[in-house]
Amino acid sequence: MSLAVEVLSSIESINQISNQCTHINAAGRRCRMLVAPTHDTLCAHHLQQHIAAQPNPEILAAELLESTGNLNTADRVNALLANVTKALARQRIDRRDALAIGYLAQLLLNTVPGVQKEHHAIRSAQAQQARAALRKKSFAETQAARLRASQTA
Ligand SMILES: [Zn+2]
Repeated sequence: MSLAVEVLSSIESINQISNQCTHINAAGRRCRMLVAPTHDTLCAHHLQQHIAAQPNPEILAAELLESTGNLNTADRVNALLANVTKALARQRIDRRDALAIGYLAQLLLNTVPGVQKEHHAIRSAQAQQARAALRKKSFAETQAARLRASQTA
């Protein structure tokens, strides 16, 4: 076998391996089927099995979002991370999805102080408006009482 044929042959076998399904059975043997055109790593058969084994997305979402509210406090973001960790440990979510959620949780944590500052500013403005309204009402009542007093006198 010439060198060129050997090189081509090994390139072909590398391509075949990279196009081969990555499923490994209980005996430790790798599936020999080619990957499905719609998937990067699994053949059509193992892709079907993988899809069938996926948890119901609604149930999984409810599991991941339990006790997370609107994710605007460190406590709620922490609850999300705890839920994701549990789901990953139970192999209910993909490692890449867990990493993506972890990254998003980090971004959310970075915004928590700003969100809390905004909420504090809104509450302060509302309290100030309520106090001003109360003063206005009290002033109007005092004026009305004075007016009544002057009319009866
Ligand atoms: Zn396969």
